[in-house]
Amino acid sequence: MVGTSGKSGSLFIVATPIGNLEDFSPRAQQVLSTVDLILAEDTRHSAKLLRYFGVNTSIESLHEHNERQKLPRLLQRLQQGENLALICDAGTPLISDPGYPLVAAVHEAKVPVLVIPGPNAAVAALSVSGLATDRFVFEGFLPAKAAARCSRLRALGDETRTLVFYESSHRIVESLSDMAATWGTDRRATVARELTKRYETVRQDSLGHLLAWVTQDPDQQRGEFVVLVEGVPVRDKQYISAEDERVLRCLLDELPHKQAVTLTSKITGTSKNALYHQSLRDQGRGLP
Ligand code: SAM
Repeated sequence: MVGTSGKSGSLFIVATPIGNLEDFSPRAQQVLSTVDLILAEDTRHSAKLLRYFGVNTSIESLHEHNERQKLPRLLQRLQQGENLALICDAGTPLISDPGYPLVAAVHEAKVPVLVIPGPNAAVAALSVSGLATDRFVFEGFLPAKAAARCSRLRALGDETRTLVFYESSHRIVESLSDMAATWGTDRRATVARELTKRYETVRQDSLGHLLAWVTQDPDQQRGEFVVLVEGVPVRDKQYISAEDERVLRCLLDELPHKQAVTLTSKITGTSKNALYHQSLRDQGRGLP
């Protein structure tokens, strides 16, 4: 949809540094200097950064408590041809930060959304973690309450991809402790602390050793954290998913029992043992 001028503006999603000001890209600075309005999570915090880089554009707050209420007016401004930029306190907007309702609504209004990519703690941590990077799952922050946190960790017990969590200094010890209790002290993990800052620390070890190290050293409990945990090796996956069962049933229709199990295991990565037991259960229930 376009405004009376015949041309809508654009919404720019602009990444800012996660610690080191030199990571603020020239393109990000140029876009922020030329848009009509910058939307920021915390205007006082962002004003300091913008002043430092000589950006004088007007700035307005946009956070989870006012985002929906401000939407109609912001859409109107875009449709009238103004360019807006969204930033967050640090890193990439919308990644555990405000902005999702705005971006969804701007798409709905057929107004262009453009990205000025840059720092993101999760991806930065993954790249130095020493854990598998071919497949990963971003979990953001774990629940603050212990019962909900443990229940979330149990639900992730069969995840084969590298798990990426954000964590704060208040809960780093509790979270590592719950992870070790739920997934075992031997599981490999990486704690990435204060990335790009003076006390940047990245350490890969078993969950048990990482927990002991962080617990014993109060300095390792300060700052901002990304915790990354290796997934369960595919060969150890013991549960049968709906997809495993579908493949197994199809192959059992066409092939001898043993061959169907072996092929399903090759296709899905689920252990032959688990599939074999499932196929016996199906036979016992008289399933085809
Ligand atoms: N949108 C941001 C991004 O792109 O990374 C993340 C915002 S989230 C509210 C803040 C969390 O990101 C922190 O609690 C921490 O878990 C992680 N984080 C941010 N900066 C970090 C840094 N320099 N080192 C390690 N973790 C960081």
